[in-house]
Amino acid sequence: MFAEVIVEIKASNTDRLYTYKVPEGMDLEVGMRVLVPFKNRLVEGYVVSLTDKPSYSLEKIKSVYKILDKYPIFNEKMIELAKWMRDYYKCYFSEVFQTIMPAGIDRGEKKVKLVRLKIEDVFEEDFKKAPRQYEVLRYLKKRSPIKLSELVKILNTDYGTIRALEKKGYIEVYEEEISRFQVRDVEKTFPPILTEEQKRAVEEVKKSILSGQPDAYLLFGVTGSGKTEVYLKLIEETVKIGKSAIVLVPEIALTPQTIERFVSRFGNRVAVIHSGLSPGERFDEWRKVKNKEVDVVVGVRSAVFAPFDNLGLIIIDEEHEATYKQSDTRPRYNAKEVAEKRCEIEKAVLVMASATPSLETYYKAIKGDYKLLKLTRRIKASMPEIEVVNMSEELAKGNNSIFSRKLFSYIKENLKKGEQTILFLNRRGYSSFVACRDCGYVPKCPNCDISLTYHFEDKKLVCHYCGYEEPMSETCPKCGSKRIRYMGIGTERVEMDIKKFFPEARVLRMDVDTTRRKGSHEKIFYEFKSGKADILIGTQMISKGFDIPNVTLVGVILADITLNLPDFRSSERTFQLLTQVAGRAGRGEKPGRVVIQTYEDNHYSILTAKEQDYVKFFREEIKYREIFKYPPFAHLMNIVVSGEDEGKVKNASANTYLACQKVINKLQVKSYNKILGPAPAPISKINNRYRWQVIVKSEEREVLEEIAEYVQNMKYPKDIRIAVDIDPLNIM
Ligand code: ADP
Ligand code: ZN
Ligand code: ZN
Repeated sequence: MFAEVIVEIKASNTDRLYTYKVPEGMDLEVGMRVLVPFKNRLVEGYVVSLTDKPSYSLEKIKSVYKILDKYPIFNEKMIELAKWMRDYYKCYFSEVFQTIMPAGIDRGEKKVKLVRLKIEDVFEEDFKKAPRQYEVLRYLKKRSPIKLSELVKILNTDYGTIRALEKKGYIEVYEEEISRFQVRDVEKTFPPILTEEQKRAVEEVKKSILSGQPDAYLLFGVTGSGKTEVYLKLIEETVKIGKSAIVLVPEIALTPQTIERFVSRFGNRVAVIHSGLSPGERFDEWRKVKNKEVDVVVGVRSAVFAPFDNLGLIIIDEEHEATYKQSDTRPRYNAKEVAEKRCEIEKAVLVMASATPSLETYYKAIKGDYKLLKLTRRIKASMPEIEVVNMSEELAKGNNSIFSRKLFSYIKENLKKGEQTILFLNRRGYSSFVACRDCGYVPKCPNCDISLTYHFEDKKLVCHYCGYEEPMSETCPKCGSKRIRYMGIGTERVEMDIKKFFPEARVLRMDVDTTRRKGSHEKIFYEFKSGKADILIGTQMISKGFDIPNVTLVGVILADITLNLPDFRSSERTFQLLTQVAGRAGRGEKPGRVVIQTYEDNHYSILTAKEQDYVKFFREEIKYREIFKYPPFAHLMNIVVSGEDEGKVKNASANTYLACQKVINKLQVKSYNKILGPAPAPISKINNRYRWQVIVKSEEREVLEEIAEYVQNMKYPKDIRIAVDIDPLNIM
C-alpha cells in the first residue's frame, strides 16, 4: 500500500503529491497526518489518498515514518474541498490544510475549573453583610455550572468571594475535562408560530433539504423580520433527518444574545466557535463535532470547516459582511464561496441571509443563480423613522457642536423618558488627527504613511495601523505654537461631549479601546441591556446583533466617514452600515427614531438608507458598477508588492505589471480586462514597509488565476513580498 502525501513545506516546488510506502501493520487512513522522510529530515504531511499503484519508481520510494493522529482529521470530501481551495485561491495545499485544521489540535485535552451551585435555597437576608457573595449565588441560580474564570470575569468578583462561598458549602469548585463541561444552562425556549412569510421561506428551503440535492438561497429580509427564527426552524428540520448544520455569523454579531438564541433552542447540541477561544478551546469545539456530540455549529468564518460527516445545511447570516473573507493571510478565501462549494460537494443547502445583501449576491439572486426569498415586514414593531440632518446647515445656523439640534433634543427627551440611546460613529479615539493652526503641521506615524490619532484618555497619539504611540505634546514640534486643532472626531470625543452636555446621563462606550480585555464586550453589552446605562456610544461593533427593546433612538454622528473611503465599495458599505445601525432602534413595543448626521445629504447611499429601500439603492449602485466594470461585472485582483526599500518596491511592482501584461497577451484574452498601476497603495507605507499595488480587472476569473500563479512564482529580490488577493474585499 502507498500513501499520497502533501508535505508541510511552503514552497511552490514542493506543493504536490509525494508517494510513500505504508509499512506492514501500520493502520494508516486517508486524512491523517504523518511524519515522512524528506531530503534528509522528517517533515509533517497530510495523507490525501491511498493506492496500490505508486506513481513513482518503486526502488526510490521511502516509507512513512510515523502516524501523528489517532483518527483521520479530514474526510475525503474535505480533501476535495481543500483541492478546490488550492486551485481557486492559488495557494499551497499545506496552507489550505492548516486553515481547515483546528488550531490547537496538538494540545490535547485540557482541564478547567468549574463552579456549581450546591444549595438551591438562597436567601438574600443571609447575605446582608456579603452582598458580593449573594451576587455570585444569584447568578449561579440562573447559570450553573459555569467556568470559574468566566464567572469571575462576568461579575467582576474575586477568588476570595468564591472561596468564602465554597467554605460555607453553597458552591462547589471542581475540575473537568473541557469537552464534557456544560456551561449551557440557558433557559429552554420554544419556537413561535411562524408568520406566513416565514413559513413560505421555510417550506421552500425545507424541500431542498429533504431532496438531498445541493441548492443555494438568498434570504433577503429587513432587520427584525424574523430571519433568525427561519434559521432555527430550518436547523430543526435538518437535524430531524439526521443531518447537521453550520451557521456562520460575523464576528461582531456573535454576541451572547445570538449564541443564547441557538443554545436555548438546541441545548448542548450546539458548538460555538468565536475568535476569543484559545487554541485549546477551539480544538474542544472541533472535537465535539468530530465525536458527533453536536448537530449544530454556530461560529465565525473558520466554522465553515466544521468536520461534520453529514452536512445538510449552511446558513450565512449577514452575508454581506467583509469578515467572511480572510484578507490578511493566505489562503485569502471567502467563507461564502467555500460554503457554496462545500454544499455542492456534500449535497447540502446553502442559505445566505441579509437585510442588505452584497451587490454581487443580490445580482446573482435576480439572475437566478440563487433562489430569492423575501421577508418584507418587521415582526414586532414598525420600521423606525429616519431623519437626515445636514451638518453644514447646522454650522451655518451657528451650531458648531458635533450634535445637531435635532439629535441633541431627542437625546434629551430620551433621557427624560428613561429610554435608551445608541450613538454610532465609525472611528475610535478622540480626533482622527491633530494639526497646528499656525504652521499646519500634522504628526504622522514614522512607520506608516498615516496620520496619528489622538487618544484623550491616555494623552497619546496612536497609529491605528502599527500601534506606534507617542505622547501628545502641548506645543507644535515644528513651530512651537500652542494652537492645536483637533480634526475629525472619534468615539472618545463623542463620549466626552455627551458627558459635558448631559452630566446626568450614564454612558458606556464600546470600541476596540474599551474591549481589549477578554469578556469586556459581553460586560458592556449586558450592562446596557439591563438598563444600567442610558447611552451607548460605539463603532461598528454595535451595529449588529443588539436586540434591546428599550433603545428608541439611534444617532449616526457622522455618516461620511465610511462614505469617503477610497474604495469602490464605500457607497455600499455606507448603505449597509446605516441600515444595520438604524435597525437597532425601536425593536420593542415603543417606536424608534433614527437621526443620520452628514455633510452629503444628497448622496444616494444616504437617501436610500433614509427610505430604507435596498432595491432602489441596488439599482443606483449597479449602474456604476457596470459603467466602471467593477464586481459583479468583472473580477478584481489586488497585487501588493511591499518592502523596506522604496526603490526596489517600485521596480518590483513595475515587473509585476509587465508580467500581468505578458500573461494576458499569451492567453490572447478577448474579454474585457485591464491592468491598473503600478501605483502606491492608498496606504503607501505600513510598519516601515512601502507598498505599491497593481490591480487587474477581468471578466474571467480564470485569467486572474493564471496571472496569480505566474506572478507568485516569479523571482523577486530578497525582502520583497508579494500579496495576491483575488476578489478582494479591501483594496487599501
Ligand atoms: P432578524 O434575524 O431578521 O433580525 P429575528 O429573528 O431576530 O429577526 O426576529 C426579531 C424578533 O421577533 C425577535 O425578538 C424574535 O424572537 C421575534 N420573532 C421572530 N419570529 C417571530 C414569530 N413568528 N412570532 C413571534 N415573534 C417572532
Ligand atoms: Zn506648528
Ligand atoms: Zn504606524
